[in-house]
Amino acid sequence: MRKGYKLCRICGEEENVADMVSGCCPVCARYHAQKLSEYQRQYEAAVAAGEPSAVSRVSELIAEYEQSERVRLKDAHREHSPGVKAK
Ligand SMILES: [Zn+2]
Repeated sequence: MRKGYKLCRICGEEENVADMVSGCCPVCARYHAQKLSEYQRQYEAAVAAGEPSAVSRVSELIAEYEQSERVRLKDAHREHSPGVKAK
């Protein structure tokens, strides 16, 4: 591996450390941040509404997303079209 480069913790691409955001390459970091902020909004809405069942459902969604993103982002990175693929 080149000096000053590290592997993205999500897609495993070699990236300049200066461009990385908390261990992710810029592509993954941007996509990840968008997704998580979506879930964060849902989570906060559920908390504000005082719905414990909705809160735990969104928490599960976030946990599942954390797992699945590693696979999906690998594919997205290769095709340079993150997040547009249907399930
Ligand atoms: Zn990456």
